[in-house]
Amino acid sequence: MPRLYFDANATTPPHPEAAEAVQRAMVEDWANPTSTHREGQRARYRLEEARREIAGSLGVPPSELVFCASATEALHLLLRGLQPALGDRPAAVFPGEHSACLNPLRDWSRVTWLPELPAGSATVIQMAANNETGILYDMPSVLDAVPIKDCAQAWGKVPVDLSDCDAAVFSGHKVGGPRGVALLWMRPGLPWEALMEGPQERRRRGGTEDLPAILGLAAALRHLTERQAANGALAPIRDAFEAEILSWNRDLEVIGQGSLRLPNTSCVLFRGRNGEGLSASLDLAGFAVSTGSACHSGSVKPSHAITTLGYSLEDARSVLRFSMLPDTQPDDVAALAAVLKRLT
Ligand code: PLP
Repeated sequence: MPRLYFDANATTPPHPEAAEAVQRAMVEDWANPTSTHREGQRARYRLEEARREIAGSLGVPPSELVFCASATEALHLLLRGLQPALGDRPAAVFPGEHSACLNPLRDWSRVTWLPELPAGSATVIQMAANNETGILYDMPSVLDAVPIKDCAQAWGKVPVDLSDCDAAVFSGHKVGGPRGVALLWMRPGLPWEALMEGPQERRRRGGTEDLPAILGLAAALRHLTERQAANGALAPIRDAFEAEILSWNRDLEVIGQGSLRLPNTSCVLFRGRNGEGLSASLDLAGFAVSTGSACHSGSVKPSHAITTLGYSLEDARSVLRFSMLPDTQPDDVAALAAVLKRLT
């Protein structure tokens, strides 16, 4: 039996057209977009063409998009770049945020956890969807604070609304794009300073742009609408999977089941079981799953995204995340359920 991949929230295989676009660009568009000769100008033209296309798909002006290498980098540039002007006021942050967002806040004088919102907060940071539970979140509205949205997981799975925020980040490899490309979007006028000096990206992110990866992302995004529809169609498959495993009465719980969630994600607490051990057994049986966010795999540190929901450390160690690719079939999920029934 072929292996089955249930870890789409960690990364996705590149769309075939994205892989083809990268390969072609490595041969045809390898020049440096900052060079002034004809080769460089051609690369510059291709870069700006891709920026216009990608910005169009997000509904933002191209000039407001900064190409980065990862959403982690985009969050670091954004938060550390706002810190000199705003960092002496509180940052109100969703406690289940990804570590890519929490780490760059270390330089801020004060970080409070939403829903606590101290008067005078400088920024409010809220992920649109949690990578582990799939739970969807609204942006709290706070006057005089810069609202920042982490769209890394929501993009391509549910509609993303940028009207209620001033800055947002997106990750290419979660939507069928290649690794090595991500987006930082900022409205003009934010009190933000560039950290990586250099002429590229209008001096907002120095370093030669990874044009092949950017062209690969543009190719993947041509399929974003169908990807989102295919992800949306996973909800009944996911719900049937959850109904099946809960029917066994084995002290299982679906975390966030009563909340609005990403349609591809099922976060299951196997109470009393060791999540690492269970995921290793599933791996041997041919199923790739995650015990939490990919960044925690390999370490036994329980996921804070689970404990902030009120679960114990022991419970957090007993969680598996199943996240489906858009083309996951009901039979794939039935095979997963059958193996889980045997292993639990
Ligand atoms: N934000 C969220 C919600 C994520 O799930 C991830 C990756 O899992 C990131 C940020 C970081 O993305 P990247 O892998 O592009 O650095």
